[in-house]
Amino acid sequence: MPTVFEMIINGDIPSKKVYEDDAVLAILDINPRAKGHTLVISKKVYPTISEAPEDLIAHMFSVVKKIDSAMRINLKAEGTNVIINNSSASGQEIPHLHIHVIPRKSDDGLSFFPPVCKYEEGEIDRYRSLIEIK
Ligand code: AMP
Repeated sequence: MPTVFEMIINGDIPSKKVYEDDAVLAILDINPRAKGHTLVISKKVYPTISEAPEDLIAHMFSVVKKIDSAMRINLKAEGTNVIINNSSASGQEIPHLHIHVIPRKSDDGLSFFPPVCKYEEGEIDRYRSLIEIK
């Protein structure tokens, strides 16, 4: 069963394209969290960033940078949120690697970050060592 994004890439369902090359398609999100909300989609299907090759991830972020620039210049965005939902536990609905780029203004009232949680005494050091890249 192809993902919605595969169907878009294959031209089976329409989309509002803002950028395309051999590896990447960028389209407007059909349910925008802000007007101009864009999805940078890998043409080859990888469910999450964990399976994708590093050169593709680097290329996708180079496209994100161009879109961020267009949003700042042409939409007068004061910032962007760049988000990847990785796996359903994080809220990913479509298991096909994509990066959300959401234009922001300081007074738009949007919020994409959950409230802070707290470490128990000494716990922060355990988390640091569990995530540390050696
Ligand atoms: P995620 O939860 O990270 O998998 O995000 C999937 C995104 O794809 C959501 O923001 C949807 O609004 C968006 N989406 C779903 N179907 C389409 C479509 N046909 N065209 C454009 N965006 C879509």
